[in-house]
Amino acid sequence: MSSETDVTDAASPDAASAVDSTDPGQSVRPNFGRITTSGRGNAALSAAMQKVLDGTWAEAREQTRAAMTPDLLNPLGLTMDEQRDHTLTQLQRLADSGMPRLGFSEEDGGTGDTGAALTTFEMLGHLDLSVMVKAGVQWGLFGGAIANLGDSETRKKYLPRVMSLELLGCFAMTEIGQGSDVQNLETTATYDVEAGEFVINTPTPSAEKAYIGNAARDGRLAATFAQLITIEDGEELRHGVHCLLVPIRDEAGNDMPGVTTTDHGYKGGLLGVDNGRIRFDNVRVPREALLNRFGAVDEQGRYSSPIESVGARFFTMLGTLIRGRVSVGAAAGASARTALALATRYSLVRRQFDHPETGRGIPLLEYREHQRRLMPRIARAYAYACAQNAIVAELAEYEKHPDAFDEVRRREMETHAAGIKATVTAFANETITEARLACGGAGYMAENLLTEMRKDCDVFSTFEGDNVVLTQLVGKELLGAYAAEFGNMDQRETVAFAINTVADVVQEKARTSTLWQKLVDAVTDREHTDILDRGNQLELLVDREEHLLETVARRLRKARDQDGSAAFKVFNSAQDHLLQAGRAHMDSWVFARFAEAVDACEDPEAKELMGMLCDLYVLDIVDRDKGWFLEHNRLTTERTKAATAAYNRLCTKLAGRARTLVDAFAVPEFVFEVPMLTGGGVDTLADGAED
Ligand SMILES: Cc1cc2nc3c(=O)[nH]c(=O)nc-3n(C[C@H](O)[C@H](O)[C@H](O)COP(=O)(O)OP(=O)(O)OC[C@H]3O[C@@H](n4cnc5c(N)ncnc54)[C@H](O)[C@@H]3O)c2cc1C
Repeated sequence: MSSETDVTDAASPDAASAVDSTDPGQSVRPNFGRITTSGRGNAALSAAMQKVLDGTWAEAREQTRAAMTPDLLNPLGLTMDEQRDHTLTQLQRLADSGMPRLGFSEEDGGTGDTGAALTTFEMLGHLDLSVMVKAGVQWGLFGGAIANLGDSETRKKYLPRVMSLELLGCFAMTEIGQGSDVQNLETTATYDVEAGEFVINTPTPSAEKAYIGNAARDGRLAATFAQLITIEDGEELRHGVHCLLVPIRDEAGNDMPGVTTTDHGYKGGLLGVDNGRIRFDNVRVPREALLNRFGAVDEQGRYSSPIESVGARFFTMLGTLIRGRVSVGAAAGASARTALALATRYSLVRRQFDHPETGRGIPLLEYREHQRRLMPRIARAYAYACAQNAIVAELAEYEKHPDAFDEVRRREMETHAAGIKATVTAFANETITEARLACGGAGYMAENLLTEMRKDCDVFSTFEGDNVVLTQLVGKELLGAYAAEFGNMDQRETVAFAINTVADVVQEKARTSTLWQKLVDAVTDREHTDILDRGNQLELLVDREEHLLETVARRLRKARDQDGSAAFKVFNSAQDHLLQAGRAHMDSWVFARFAEAVDACEDPEAKELMGMLCDLYVLDIVDRDKGWFLEHNRLTTERTKAATAAYNRLCTKLAGRARTLVDAFAVPEFVFEVPMLTGGGVDTLADGAED
């Protein structure tokens, strides 16, 4: 039985102000007289907010929620083999439910609902990340490579068995030597005209495939990325990285001839996923093994491709695989929301130190510092959930109507997919750790889920693109002013192209949006540029982004007439600046998506509460980057002080609605059946305890 004595979150709107101080300079005076014992949030209000968070694919979310059962939670205390078995069993359950079919086209035997597929993957992030990751490897990466890069015959041959889990596979791209720099991977696939086969080789120790999901135990076929080589007139022609389907194990699980797999064993987390290495020694596969959408080899060994440039071809190929990146960000966001819901519920039942007047213990969430730890993160969780919904909608639209996307829109989508992945996975890691700390010793007990979540989420910052590398990609794209040619430019060309165009494009892009105009029109306090005015908030964030881009472009101008190491030196010395610009862009892009979602909310009370979260999202950015705003004369010290006061005020006000806010995350209720919330082993109040 849960003992959910809730300090502040009564159904009445008054409850919020019960702990609010209107005097920013004063500390909050908790009003213990208003403590309620309902322990419940305002159900109608949280339902209205949930509607916003659930987004376009609310139905898919609801169906997934309904299908979620406690055995989908990360099991504790299993050996590695037992946990791998458990994860595989859960995957089979998902396969049997028909869930994977959502992500494949009708032509391939699926139901072709990208939005629902991505949303379902996201929901798995609330529970066991091993299941989410193994599902992502199997259907998102391995299946996705076949679906996006293969011809119809190949797709027909493999995809039904991929969906049903009859055929388990790997996505074998990374090598020991080449992680982030996959364009230069070393594995080779050389066409042998006589035999009509490709010969796959691992030419050096650093070319060994590493960290590959499903490679240690369950995978039978690997979508293997290799440098494609043909021989014409005795000359070796290299065509860049391509993907081939290479059998790695037989039915019985033994390595195929020429293939050597090894098990990475225990990792920092994700115990249920069998990651391993793969080496190829003259492994022969038929010509049809090449997934030939972007590059084919005919029987005579002649290579052809619709894309001439090796670089552009590779990036186009990668671009078709962004679903994985989107899913990883989404699942990390779900995981962070679960952690916040756990920590918030705990903060409402856990009391430490007695109040001098009442003699009763003070619930953790009454403390200003605890409010500051949890509330801004809840605000960010909302913002990222809305931004994630926007990127899912854009990707679903693209897959449905690719012709409606010109080069610029497609690249923008890819950039934001990269940026949101880096932003949300970093946030999730930081948030799960903070949630665990916010629960003290109880948070450290595995039974309360947070430590397992933290271990499993850790690597989300590394795979599907390392976060630093992805943020740099965002910065580069912005510098290139979304020019279609940018991806094919070398560093010098990039620099030259970026000069003078950056600010114009950023401003134009931001200011031509209808939201921008609407928000700017709504500014009510132009003279004082009130930080709580939505239009001013957008101006503040976009101005920071513009300034950072303009100044980094100016620094890079020095590289215009230089080559090689000199150009690299200039570029490298500005790297932190470029990354800062990439992050600033994501802040303003996320803000705009959040503001749009708030604007579209139909329930007035929910809209008001989400508006406060939106304010807190911006104030949190100002708080974290105060130094920049002050150094660049964007805010005076008076205004940053006022911003801090407003930040504290909002934290307290929103703490009054904490339970409602986290209930809107709609995490399955069984997740909260953990000892720290059900009274086992820690000091919680008896249900119904009165002050
Ligand atoms: C558990 C797990 C599962 C995985 N599953 C798969 C899989 O199924 N298939 C697959 O193909 N791969 C998989 N990977 C590999 C993963 O995608 C890579 O680990 C990732 O791309 C990073 O490569 P790396 O490990 O070589 O790191 P590196 O690229 O060597 O990066 C190391 C550090 O250097 C920094 N760095 C790198 N480049 C730059 C730069 N230009 N500027 C500044 N800093 C830089 C990074 O930020 C990072 O902190 C998996 C990895 C793990 C850990």
